[in-house]
Amino acid sequence: MIGMRVGIIGGGIGGLLSGVKILGSVDADLYEEHVLVGYPKHCTGLISDEVLSHLGCGAKNYVLNAFREYTLIHSSRPNKELELKFRNTIYLVDRPSLERYLSDEFQCRGGMLHLGLKVTSIDLSETSLAVKGGLTKKYDVIIIAEGARATLTRASGMCGGRTYLVGLQALIRCRNVLESPYVIFGNDVSKEFFGWVVPVNERRLIFGLADRYVSYVRLNHLMKTYLTRMLEVNDLVVEEVFGGLIPTSTPCKQTLKNFVGIGDAVSVVKPLSGGGIYSISRQVRALEESLKANTPDNVLKKYRSKSSGLIKTLNVQHMLRKYIIRKFHSLSNFIMKLIDLEVDEVHILDYDRYLINPLNLNIKDALKILSTLLI
Ligand SMILES: Cc1cc2nc3c(=O)[nH]c(=O)nc-3n(C[C@H](O)[C@H](O)[C@H](O)COP(=O)(O)OP(=O)(O)OC[C@H]3O[C@@H](n4cnc5c(N)ncnc54)[C@H](O)[C@@H]3O)c2cc1C
Repeated sequence: MIGMRVGIIGGGIGGLLSGVKILGSVDADLYEEHVLVGYPKHCTGLISDEVLSHLGCGAKNYVLNAFREYTLIHSSRPNKELELKFRNTIYLVDRPSLERYLSDEFQCRGGMLHLGLKVTSIDLSETSLAVKGGLTKKYDVIIIAEGARATLTRASGMCGGRTYLVGLQALIRCRNVLESPYVIFGNDVSKEFFGWVVPVNERRLIFGLADRYVSYVRLNHLMKTYLTRMLEVNDLVVEEVFGGLIPTSTPCKQTLKNFVGIGDAVSVVKPLSGGGIYSISRQVRALEESLKANTPDNVLKKYRSKSSGLIKTLNVQHMLRKYIIRKFHSLSNFIMKLIDLEVDEVHILDYDRYLINPLNLNIKDALKILSTLLI
């Protein structure tokens, strides 16, 4: 709706992408508490081709690497592997540079970017926000994209109690690098999630770990065990350590009055991989469509209907995760079971919707997996 004013809280990928995509049909101000976008860095940066193309042509300049398969390994089955092959290409992007690019785009298109300005509270009945220093500003619609801390979405009642995992990763310089990513399971690695190795370029990789509690000492120990001993990557030099929270709760309320929640602020992370950017891209596409409506009320109504498919998909993925954990006690035990069944290759139709589409297995392997899940 031309003339509508939108306030955006948070200059991470959710807030910036929303801003870039909605400018033109509305005017927008974006508030970011840090003086730089993209920092503190926390994300690995793996996205699908579908998400990359939604980010826009310029985003391709920030691609560091591309993959068509992952290898799953388990600490209790050192000589076995499970290959996951994707229908689409998975890209590794440089998140801080991508966010700088999006913030430039936002400003070029006429958006007002307020850096170093923290939003301290919101008023649901006035559709207003207050920033540090006391200034209050009213809008027609406010987007909350404040990330995993979710201070405002919790205070407003959009989100209830939330659960998290902590993700910690290291950018490592090394002598030899792997061809494609590895996902590492095992109780010594992570009780609740997994570890990962992602090649960045011919001299660098990211080694990461997510669990209820993680520490640099544990990351360092696992790095040596898995990179040096198991994957034979040598001469490791840690260049940078970074990480953050991964929300694991089911999606929160997506809208409240004239407020819309985007990204980690409303817990739309994929529960089996921890990836959040795909859901953000889907939410922003729903927002772009909805802002064509003629009143804020209709925008919100349209957004709820357009984003409901994503929320249903995420809820089904949460149910599957719960089912796997109830039956096998951990994700890691489930993967061990698959490895024991000697299913050594799984062709997944789609990286983003992995568990919603059927797995493209041959009949024998599909029956093996089904019988494990159902017995
Ligand atoms: C270790 C790790 C690895 C990950 N790897 C991947 C991956 O490979 N692929 C993937 O898809 N996802 C990944 N994710 C998830 C992904 O990073 C998040 O889903 C995504 O960054 C969420 O974006 P966002 O915009 O919602 O929040 P954020 O990126 O956290 O941005 C929120 C912004 O809001 C600002 N802010 C907060 N409060 C206020 C306030 N009151 N006023 C003003 N500004 C405020 C913050 O400073 C921040 O800049 C990973 C997460 C972690 C922790």
